[in-house]
Amino acid sequence: MNKNVWEKYSEEKTKAMEKFCDGYKDFLSNHKTERECTLFAAELAKSNGFIDLSDAIKQNKKLKAGDKVFAINMNKSILLAVVGKKDMAEGINFVGSHLDSPRLDIKATPIYENNELCLVDTHYYGGIKTYQWTAIPLAIHGTVAKKDGKVINFVFGEGDGACVGITDILPHLDPNRQNPKVKGEDLNLLVGSKPDTSVEKDKYKNNIIKILNANNIDEEDLFSAELEVVPSGKARDFGLDKSMVLGYGQDDKVCAYSSLMAFMEVKNPEKTAVCLLVDKEEIGSVGATGMQSKFFENVIAEIMNLCGNYSELNMRRALNKSKMLSSDVTAGYDPNYPTPMNENTEAHLGRGISFNKYTGSRGKYDANDANPEFIAKLRAELDKKEIYFQATEMGKVDAGGGGTIAYIMANYGMEVIDAGVPVLSMHAPWEVTSKVDIYESYLCYRAFYDLV
Ligand code: MN
Ligand code: MN
Repeated sequence: MNKNVWEKYSEEKTKAMEKFCDGYKDFLSNHKTERECTLFAAELAKSNGFIDLSDAIKQNKKLKAGDKVFAINMNKSILLAVVGKKDMAEGINFVGSHLDSPRLDIKATPIYENNELCLVDTHYYGGIKTYQWTAIPLAIHGTVAKKDGKVINFVFGEGDGACVGITDILPHLDPNRQNPKVKGEDLNLLVGSKPDTSVEKDKYKNNIIKILNANNIDEEDLFSAELEVVPSGKARDFGLDKSMVLGYGQDDKVCAYSSLMAFMEVKNPEKTAVCLLVDKEEIGSVGATGMQSKFFENVIAEIMNLCGNYSELNMRRALNKSKMLSSDVTAGYDPNYPTPMNENTEAHLGRGISFNKYTGSRGKYDANDANPEFIAKLRAELDKKEIYFQATEMGKVDAGGGGTIAYIMANYGMEVIDAGVPVLSMHAPWEVTSKVDIYESYLCYRAFYDLV
């Protein structure tokens, strides 16, 4: 526990770790929204022999040990399961992470012009430092649903071509420059500066509308759209020694990716294993695609039904006897910002997957306090398999803290603990993680799915 993993790795393990991180960087570069990630997970699952649960239900297909299914929720979250040899009422092993990341959402009636510039109104999603989103290249990823039922997937601003962005004022005209205070309402995306000379009014706005029209998007279609403004560009190695990964949305795509890849290797487990990738964690796990939604429970009920052992009581028993890793990132100790952190108890980059026995702050409020008996079982398993982990907290006692989906699952009476990768610059457009922590988290999730 709490050892630097780099000192422990063999050449062979380093190679495997680098290969895994190459796949991870590719994933991060090409999947920035919850929809893109959900589609990735579904395609990967299909190519690994998973079947769509809705097809299985239609065909009334009986599920047996070793069968693999997935269920998609509104294209923004997904549950994958491998049926175990034991009755599900004996408990399920869950690993749950989230696909949504802080970003700027485009409003429903967003386009306007001002002083010969065309701008787009945004409403930020999740906890951001507003000033970090100015003066960097941004991209728009999303979906526009047309009245006729067609859905257009839209990506603009990636690759070497054009991008968009939010401007900042030069230091000479900014009295607050050492304490940047950009209001959420000020995060207006600059998208154009060229007039449409064929019209008299709103020339600059009209020129942009024309470009949207060429993509089969009308201005009013933006009401039935989900367009997310995210940092433009690829994930890449970080550091002169290339020991880290820089990428957008590593909270919590790092845990989502490592738990998903580990799940693809699960075969004939004793207990049913489930990989859960949810949406809306950053805004309180609310809504139809968040962890608090009944979707999760409904899917477990459907799977139990196809296994031939569904009853309300059996399902309650299954959830009650389950174990879960709430796989979400935690803050890494940052020597640049020691004030809110306690170096003895904070997660450190390079020390492996980080377990937060409890989150919460100022007297453990709103924390899921993991049970020592459960933690002991995990420690034994991880030590046996030489998987490196650290026991941590997030921030000083009175400094703050953060929430995860752990407490929601704990409501079923199951054993839950937070386990994830330490991150530097968390919630900033570009977040930093350590490669060995990414790999150790994958190994940890892999071991957990098979826990008996
Ligand atoms: Mn998170
Ligand atoms: Mn977060």
